[in-house]
Amino acid sequence: MLKDNLALVEKNIEEACKRAGRKREEVTLIAVSKTKPVEMLQEIYDAGSREFGENKVQEMCDKIEQLPKDIHWHMIGHLQTNKVKYIVGRTALIHSVDSLHLAKEIQKQAVKADVIVPILVEVNIAEEDSKFGIHSDETIALVSEIAKLDHLHIEGLMTIAPFVSNPEENRVYFRGIRELAVDINNQKIDNVSMGILSMGMTNDYTVAIEEGSTMVRVGTGIFGERNYNI
Ligand SMILES: *Cc1c(COP(=O)(O)O)cnc(C)c1O
Repeated sequence: MLKDNLALVEKNIEEACKRAGRKREEVTLIAVSKTKPVEMLQEIYDAGSREFGENKVQEMCDKIEQLPKDIHWHMIGHLQTNKVKYIVGRTALIHSVDSLHLAKEIQKQAVKADVIVPILVEVNIAEEDSKFGIHSDETIALVSEIAKLDHLHIEGLMTIAPFVSNPEENRVYFRGIRELAVDINNQKIDNVSMGILSMGMTNDYTVAIEEGSTMVRVGTGIFGERNYNI
């Protein structure tokens, strides 16, 4: 049963918070539902989840239509500028902003829709060629530029850590993100807060929480393996 998976993830989060001397309320669990049918999302909704993460614009929009209106939708996937108009005003948070070009398109659509769009800046902390996100040494400069766009609000940083067999290997990267957030905070840039650190997935969310994550994105651990071939 999916709700048993959810309960296990909840228990792990609680224990990780305890180990780190943190409060459970400091960590938001996002149920990453990409590729999964709405019936499965409804099941997790009925078990109490209100935060869902999707990585494709079309799929997210379809699901928004079919599911209850009090869900907070998180865009966690790479975003093409021509798709921005479909999600502005419909997402609780865009986690994957990694260029000024994309930020400017979000600004343009946000002005049109008369909304303020909360975003995270995606950092490729391990500098893997296969991943989106900017390198950590470019982050402060990008944050400073995006901060000038008055219809965006930078809430923090997001990262996707490397795929590793031992999650301990990612501890250094999660710590790096937290330190980078502290550095950015010290710059005291207007229109920028660093309250959210979106880091940790099924394989490594407990380590991420120990290192200060405030949002974990868990897909497989809740919904089971994804099958991209059907
Ligand atoms: C798919 C995805 C996740 C969830 O991954 P799992 O390993 O299934 O928990 C988290 N974050 C992002 C950005 C994703 O694309």
